[in-house]
Amino acid sequence: MERGDSTTRVVVLGSTGSIGRSALDVIGSEGPARLRAHGLSAHSNWRRLAEQARAASPRFVVMTDDQPVAEVRDALRGTDVEILTGRDGVLRMVQDESTDRVLDAIVGAAGLEGAWAALEAGKTVALANKETLVVAGPLIMDLARRRDARLLPVDSEHSAIFQALQAGDRREVKRVILTSSGGPFRGKTRRELQDVSPEMALKHPTWSMGPKISIDSATLMNKALEVIEARWLFDLEPDQIEVVVHPESVVHSMVEFVDGSVVAQLSPPDMRLPIQYALTYPDRHPCPGPRLDLTRPSALHFEPPDRETFPALDLAFEVMKQGGTAGAALNAANEAAVGRFLGGEIGFLDIARACRAALDHHEYDPRPTLDRLWKVDAKARLEVQRWTP
Ligand code: NAD
Ligand code: MG
Repeated sequence: MERGDSTTRVVVLGSTGSIGRSALDVIGSEGPARLRAHGLSAHSNWRRLAEQARAASPRFVVMTDDQPVAEVRDALRGTDVEILTGRDGVLRMVQDESTDRVLDAIVGAAGLEGAWAALEAGKTVALANKETLVVAGPLIMDLARRRDARLLPVDSEHSAIFQALQAGDRREVKRVILTSSGGPFRGKTRRELQDVSPEMALKHPTWSMGPKISIDSATLMNKALEVIEARWLFDLEPDQIEVVVHPESVVHSMVEFVDGSVVAQLSPPDMRLPIQYALTYPDRHPCPGPRLDLTRPSALHFEPPDRETFPALDLAFEVMKQGGTAGAALNAANEAAVGRFLGGEIGFLDIARACRAALDHHEYDPRPTLDRLWKVDAKARLEVQRWTP
């Protein structure tokens, strides 16, 4: 930062979503002397984007879907906000010389391009968009290394692991243990899940999130994606990653060191804390979220995941074993299958089945380029669109 101030200027990609809104709350509560929204992007919700821009006065906003651009221009008339569109707008905003950090809170593989552009420009990326690492983990980590750019986790589990890793040397890590709430269907049998509706699957017991990740939490695909995310982010072998169900969502994940010490990070289930840590790291500041009070009667439970009812987890380990294009195929198939489930076209249990089919049929490449990954992505989506239960 050579501007003569210590403000961190943040670009929030996907500012109108669940993570994006929490991020603006954090930025607002930190105040402009520490954090400032430098740019915001939204895909279609132009009203909310305009409201956010009026409140946070960023330098740029981007409508990634350029349909409602005229509306945004009208809504922001008389302000100094520069209105950009499409992927060029995202590139320009993340690579702007005043941009210090980019929070990628776009949902799905659509978040990859922004993260890529930011890393390429050497910016620090606060990554909520786990799909980026599922699709292109090795390429992204390599890019970050080459550009000397930092990738900081926002996902609560990965933020917890990142914090716990600071307790020891990297070579002293035995394994990481990711916690999962178990989702809204914890304890159910496959039979009971046969006819569940999107409304039922969208009701998460401990977290309030966007629709795609809520369905992923119900199938445990979210945990599957997070296992793959952890592998690349922390350079772990697949057998160093374990998953444990912890319904209270207070212990966000743990690291076991070679001496048997297990270091965990605890806090109430509120994304503002991991978002803030990724925006202020290496500093810690007071956070607007609730605080943990373990002096009140409380209990924390842990149990193994039910891999028979929730086959998504096994898919993650298979994908890690395969590497190459497998992550891109799984992610795209899942996005398409979640879309079809939400549209009432396929059943809940079909989501993992469709992913399985797409993974089995995809044209495997062990060392894909980014271009190849996009082709695999497109093909897997098509496959799931055509797939019949
Ligand atoms: P959301 O659906 O609430 O918001 C998604 C945002 O992405 C919106 O601003 C939308 O405008 C934008 N967007 C959607 N499609 C786009 C496209 N094609 N191109 C550009 N922008 C697009 O999602 P969310 O729950 O905030 O999740 C965002 C990401 O963060 C996901 O990758 C999710 O897995 C991850 N994450 C979310 C939470 C959570 O608590 N919500 C926790 C951990 C990780
Ligand atoms: Mg998570």
